[in-house]
Amino acid sequence: METFDILITDHIAEEGLEILNQHPDIRYEIKAGIKNVDLKPIIGNYDAVITRSGTTVDADLIENTGKLKIIGRAGVGLDNVDIEAASKKGLIVMNAPTGNTLAATELTMGMILAACRKIPAADQSVKAGEWDRKRFMGIQLSNKVLGIIGMGRIGSNVAVRCKAFGMKIMVYDPYIKQSRADSIGVTLCDTMEEVLKNADVLTFHTPLTQETKGIMGAKEFALMKDGAVLVNCARGGLVDEDALYDAVKSGKLFSAATDVYSAEPPVGNKLLTLDNIFVTPHIGANTHEGQKGVAVIICEQIVNALHGESYANAVNIPYMKSQLPEDMQRYFELAESMGKMASQIIDGRPEELRFTMVGKRFEEDFGERTFDSPFNYQPFTIAALKGFMEVALTDAVSYINSPYLAKDRNIHVMESKTDHYAKYNDLLVLTVKTHDGEIVIGGTVFPDQKGRITFIDKYNLDLTAEGNYLYFRNTDRPGVVGKVGTLLGENGVNIANFELSRVSDKGSEAVSFVLVDDPITQSVLGKIMGIDGIIEAKAIKL
Ligand code: NAD
Repeated sequence: METFDILITDHIAEEGLEILNQHPDIRYEIKAGIKNVDLKPIIGNYDAVITRSGTTVDADLIENTGKLKIIGRAGVGLDNVDIEAASKKGLIVMNAPTGNTLAATELTMGMILAACRKIPAADQSVKAGEWDRKRFMGIQLSNKVLGIIGMGRIGSNVAVRCKAFGMKIMVYDPYIKQSRADSIGVTLCDTMEEVLKNADVLTFHTPLTQETKGIMGAKEFALMKDGAVLVNCARGGLVDEDALYDAVKSGKLFSAATDVYSAEPPVGNKLLTLDNIFVTPHIGANTHEGQKGVAVIICEQIVNALHGESYANAVNIPYMKSQLPEDMQRYFELAESMGKMASQIIDGRPEELRFTMVGKRFEEDFGERTFDSPFNYQPFTIAALKGFMEVALTDAVSYINSPYLAKDRNIHVMESKTDHYAKYNDLLVLTVKTHDGEIVIGGTVFPDQKGRITFIDKYNLDLTAEGNYLYFRNTDRPGVVGKVGTLLGENGVNIANFELSRVSDKGSEAVSFVLVDDPITQSVLGKIMGIDGIIEAKAIKL
């Protein structure tokens, strides 16, 4: 029985461990709070690592991945994981985004109410023996405007609850559809500015990305209504803390509440010095239910992924073949074979890989971007790229890291769609340019659901897109092909199919692809190269 080792580097709820205990092939160790210096030498001994926010998974930590395949985050935020570095190493990164949605939503509700009614300050004052009711004049939520920046899981749940308080909701989220906003009953704005100008209470629910870092700065505060309230239970880096301090200190804002900080813990952070800023120690996800939720989800997902069953919430797998419709899976396989074929025929340093999808079935986009990836290719392009790269780089190439590997090697990847190409309705065309030449390969899936390579450069062909081939190019004159056949027979090579193609003018060049039962050996290849009239010969494995 194959066994898998998991390392858990943070405290996770018992219910998650119970899931792992149910699988005899899964062993786990808990080293909560382990430092990166101690983790680095041993991380490669595990198939998967489960973290919360305690471990920073950076390029240095995963320099030597050993048998490591998966990094699992028991929670949603992945800002402690360098997804690009992990992707380059072919590691799957997954999170448990739904487990603590309601915990974070409910904290946000608490923070909105705390900030509008200054509840924590009122609590402190009563306990200090005061009875000053005038100081705690608050803001009513009913009939006010709630501005939401980022309406994903948590933002939507906050919207629903604030509507129950009688608030009108205005949202800025450039990545959601109008129908989503309509179904929740909120106003979707085209600009963040529109939300800022109208919100009485503003709340943030976006991830921290290059785009959202510092999304709320001095310029944005200036656009807000006087006396508004700001709440941030998402990520510290979203709101410029100096600008927030100035806005509250100057009285521009009535108050603010934040669960998150640019640096945590927020030692010496000046936000802590203002009475009208209410703070909590990043406890958005800290409910028993929330912790149980993320632990169970991440443990289930990791077990499934290690067993190769499913890859739910993997944020850096651009596309899993199994998520494509059945017929498109055949195109995906074909694209990968075309990539392999191209790299085995063409010589020279690759400079450009162009992938064209032809026909109506490719009009729609397949797959969604799941993280802030610099690449946005269709699955077929990724498959072709992986097939192309792996011939030279072998096992280290995966669907995850192939775009990064291509970028590192300065291979320019291009993708396009078109509605027709020569006589074909549905076709994939792969063009690879090297410093030495160019190859164009076309392929399609026939009604029998088998992928076929239908042309290579100017030669029309009909090749099944799998198996071992002998490929050779020869001057087109009698006897050459016969000699190759005889030589293969003499060397015990069994021929399953022989495909010969030449351009119309007799006497020029012809190409042949001989489908053989076993891979062609170097010694047989050498003998074929010795036949008069052979220009080149290669063994190809698809
Ligand atoms: P989500 O992915 O479901 O939603 C995020 C939304 O932000 C998406 O709809 C996305 O389209 C939107 N968005 C992305 N870029 C944007 C931009 N530039 N402008 C406007 N909108 C943008 O995530 P979620 O589960 O709702 O979590 C939201 C945030 O809450 C995350 O940052 C997460 O880390 C944080 N969180 C914090 C705690 C805590 O302990 N305080 C707990 C859970 C989640």
